[in-house]
Amino acid sequence: MIDTDVLVIGAGPTGLFCVHQLGIIGLRCEVVDNLDKIGGQCIELYPDKPIYDIPGIPECTGEKLTNNLIEQIKPFKTNFHLNERVEEVKKEKNYWIVKTNKAKEFKASSIIIAGGVGSFEPRKFTVKECEKFEGEEIFYSIKDKNIFKKKIVSIFGGGDSALDWAIELSENSKVQLIHRRDEFRGAQSSVEKLKELSKQKKVEILTKYQLTSVEGDNKIKSISIKHDNGNIKKLETNYILGFFGLVMQLGPINNWKLNLDKKHIPVNTENFETNQKGIFAIGDICTYVGKLKLILSGFHEGALAARGCFKYARPDEKLRFEFTTTSKKVHERLGVKKDD
Ligand SMILES: Cc1cc2nc3c(=O)[nH]c(=O)nc-3n(C[C@H](O)[C@H](O)[C@H](O)COP(=O)(O)OP(=O)(O)OC[C@H]3O[C@@H](n4cnc5c(N)ncnc54)[C@H](O)[C@@H]3O)c2cc1C
Repeated sequence: MIDTDVLVIGAGPTGLFCVHQLGIIGLRCEVVDNLDKIGGQCIELYPDKPIYDIPGIPECTGEKLTNNLIEQIKPFKTNFHLNERVEEVKKEKNYWIVKTNKAKEFKASSIIIAGGVGSFEPRKFTVKECEKFEGEEIFYSIKDKNIFKKKIVSIFGGGDSALDWAIELSENSKVQLIHRRDEFRGAQSSVEKLKELSKQKKVEILTKYQLTSVEGDNKIKSISIKHDNGNIKKLETNYILGFFGLVMQLGPINNWKLNLDKKHIPVNTENFETNQKGIFAIGDICTYVGKLKLILSGFHEGALAARGCFKYARPDEKLRFEFTTTSKKVHERLGVKKDD
């Protein structure tokens, strides 16, 4: 059981800046995110796109903003628990017990939900038999590419992930790239490279096909794919990879008794607390009159929610308002030296 003052759910820009606000007022926190990297929508959906409305920063990309936010919270040495989805939240005496899908448990006096539009989940195959092979021979992301060495791999999808992995795995595996359209959405240079690999018989490209069934008992033996014209083809296969992009799921947050309003969590604007005492919601996931779904609003909400958590973590202390420019305590927490 990991004991902390505040558990932050979501490592998007809002969750990250909130870590800073918790840190400067002396509260400890842990952060959980379902993605394999820090940065939420900024890193997952638009890492290279410029943002023009972050106060004081005329222009910066989603990736640059994320890196700056990570840099800003370095002094607090915060633990990030990535690839973990918060599943269960329950109250015990004066604290909350939070469980993830990997059975990790946290004990915290407050929870800040900075879950954006919900957790990002891969869009999956709709064929029923796929579920039973998921995580063993069917994957939607790759953790260890070595397992595919000298095997037959069927890759589905037409975007950059499908194309990049088809190119990379073709070095050591037999690759079949299957896409439901004739045109690929990925980078033109990758499409050219794949055409070259196809001529060299290193990759087999099958377009206008979709998966219809997976055959095999304990292990996958083959798949059947159907062409737009109705023809069915059976292909020997050891592994199946699906790269169809991400969908956002509110998922377990639905079950935390937070009187949701159209997939958003209503909060007060004094400290962004929800209807559950000690649970706060900030960023894209919260709603109140006048809410603007912008990063700058999430920063403000995080600053107030952090202060709202103080009374639960330190019930016998009073939080004093201090500026970062002049507060010795804040300088100590940030590890900055000041001759004042
Ligand atoms: C293309 C595009 C361009 C944009 N441009 C701008 C712009 O110019 N300016 C601007 O201000 N805003 C812009 N936005 C909006 C901005 O990105 C969002 O307002 C911002 O990302 C919200 O931050 P957040 O931290 O609240 O949520 P998110 O960035 O969505 O992060 C939430 C995180 O929580 C995680 N999560 C959710 N549920 C769970 C769970 N149960 N367990 C574990 N983890 C969970 C998710 O995996 C995710 O990483 C843009 C958005 C898009 C898509």
